[in-house]
Amino acid sequence: MTDTPTLALAKDLISRQSVTPVDAGCQKVMIERLQALGFKIEVMVFEDTTNFWARRGTEAPLFAFAGHTDVVPAGNLELWDTPPFEPTIKDGFLYGRGAADMKGSLASMVVAVEQFIAQNPNHKGSIGFLITSDEEGPFINGTVRVVEALMERGENIDMCIVGEPSSTEVVGDVVKNGRRGSITGDLTVKGIQGHVAYPHLAKNPVHQSLMALNELAETEWDQGNDYFPPTSFQIPNIQAGTGASNVIPGELRVQFNLRYSTELNNDMIVKRVNDTLSKHKLDYQLDWTFNGDPFLTDTGDLLDAVVTAVGDVNQTKPELLTTGGTSDGRFIARMGGQVVELGPVNATIHKVNERVKIDDLEKLTNMYQKTLENVLA
Ligand SMILES: [Zn+2]
Repeated sequence: MTDTPTLALAKDLISRQSVTPVDAGCQKVMIERLQALGFKIEVMVFEDTTNFWARRGTEAPLFAFAGHTDVVPAGNLELWDTPPFEPTIKDGFLYGRGAADMKGSLASMVVAVEQFIAQNPNHKGSIGFLITSDEEGPFINGTVRVVEALMERGENIDMCIVGEPSSTEVVGDVVKNGRRGSITGDLTVKGIQGHVAYPHLAKNPVHQSLMALNELAETEWDQGNDYFPPTSFQIPNIQAGTGASNVIPGELRVQFNLRYSTELNNDMIVKRVNDTLSKHKLDYQLDWTFNGDPFLTDTGDLLDAVVTAVGDVNQTKPELLTTGGTSDGRFIARMGGQVVELGPVNATIHKVNERVKIDDLEKLTNMYQKTLENVLA
């Protein structure tokens, strides 16, 4: 049996060792296919990262697919049943690093567009592709830079499907219509180092901090809303002390992270944390890292089109969720358009023996194609 177009392209992409930020020729393969369909291609290289923007048509609305050609490292090769960069078919699955995150999606997008254009050569609006090779890395020179370049010239994406593996058990059972925001605080609480036997000559930053940290951990930040779970505060790292049992430490370092809903924003969080720390009279320094604002795509053309397309293929509607970590969707949402994520089952992503069901690749291709028909035919 010969491979379907989606399977053949997925295998080709997986065979290229594109560990972040290396692209290893994946984008060239995609570009050649899109060029043949009449897409105008713009390669955008920022520092060590290769990205491309492709567009077919000049009219609105601009519908785009977004994704990444890079993959996470394979890890311990001994633990893989098959070589991670040799696409292998076994028991109805395609194995290989990136099969699910997200070369399977990239192949499905390209083939869906090929099939759609074959049937609708004079489609409405425009189709775009925003592809990066740094999604799994520090996300500095990837999607965010392409989005900035497009916004600068007023070329805003109206509707976007990000191909991240959104599904849980069968492809399309979950569509992500938003993501929580993420913010990290690095807090240093200053005390005075001293001998534990002479506490009156020292100031213990651990004791000083406990009440404040407890209050932050117990705070009800919000109650979430229809689409988002309540905001959560977590301490992943805490450190103090010299290792000796007779020394009061001079400082305490704590790192905390909040995953927050659209009920909050960065400014509100920063203010509430500072208020709490000040109330407990801590001598502290606090540095913030803003990882991304929350975004939400409420009802609209795109969500309707995707839900209908998935329903047509699966005979059942997808669940709409905003769970999981941050994604490049947060950058694309800055353009003000609608953004949803639809991709393969995520059970094996970033793991050894990453795989995707071959049937799911065909279904995903169909879902993407039907979405295009719903918005641009
Ligand atoms: Zn991914």
